[in-house]
Amino acid sequence: MSNETEAVDERGKIIKEQEKMLKIRMQKIKHKVAVISGKGGVGKSTITVNLAIAFAINGYRVGILDADIHGPSIPKMLGLSGQRLEVGPPGIFPAIGPLGIRVVSMDFLLPDENTPIIWRGPLKMAAIRQFLSDIVWGELDLLLIDLPPGTGDEPLSVAQLLPEMDGVIIVTIPSEVSQIVVKKAVMFAKRLGLPVIGVIENMSGFICPKCGTKIDVFQSGGGKRISEEMGVPFLGSIPIDQRICESSDKGIPFIAEHKNSPASKALIEIIQKIEQFLSCRGKSKFSREGEGKI
Ligand code: ADP
Repeated sequence: MSNETEAVDERGKIIKEQEKMLKIRMQKIKHKVAVISGKGGVGKSTITVNLAIAFAINGYRVGILDADIHGPSIPKMLGLSGQRLEVGPPGIFPAIGPLGIRVVSMDFLLPDENTPIIWRGPLKMAAIRQFLSDIVWGELDLLLIDLPPGTGDEPLSVAQLLPEMDGVIIVTIPSEVSQIVVKKAVMFAKRLGLPVIGVIENMSGFICPKCGTKIDVFQSGGGKRISEEMGVPFLGSIPIDQRICESSDKGIPFIAEHKNSPASKALIEIIQKIEQFLSCRGKSKFSREGEGKI
């Protein structure tokens, strides 16, 4: 047997072993939900972080896999920048964020935040497989997977590696261009056989903090329209709030800091719909086993 054939065989064995581990680790996680968007900058990571916090406040044990390999931003939003992952005999341990949220991101493996990742598809698939198989996630009620924008390698890898995934949440903004990409994201999920839990319209109008009047900066309502057109649920609209940006930059999740703002209230209503969806999934009841820290 040539060296090359031996190396291919060895690689095949490693992948099989990883996939076996992946199944074992993933069995301990009751629900897996991916957050996707047709394009970047629509607030997908912001929403992932705030959903995670809201679920954790409600007493669920939550994890976030930041699978946005090229632009990992979850650690910064959770105040975890610069953390390193610890390795022990059972595997690699996730970083622990606010309210005990377990977080894994490519950002923890890079020497500094300015280092770009230049990888082709197969390498990204290998990294995601490793994130799911080598990380000691432990028992979780919910794993949120923040995928990069678009319909590229990472969403495909995750769909292939986690055929039992509960579904996807699609984040959009109300403008015309983003509506076209939402259609693509819905089609993509449907083709991969992933249930669409629903569409969230972010940056949906601006509520004046002084007088409470709503100003439709990007013409709100597009998210609901597209959901109806595509026959998928609409989860809700989150208004623009400049404090969201400030909170992200400070590493303190918005919903934890401004619980009574219109954006947080909208997020809480969205959570209830997601909770309902997951409870109806049948295979395992979506119930809280965490402590409920607030
Ligand atoms: P994506 O993950 O889709 O690329 P991000 O979550 O990184 O987008 O958000 C892009 C920027 O928009 C961030 O600076 C974030 O703080 C800001 N942002 C997101 N949602 C809102 C909102 N509803 N109001 C104000 N700023 C927002």
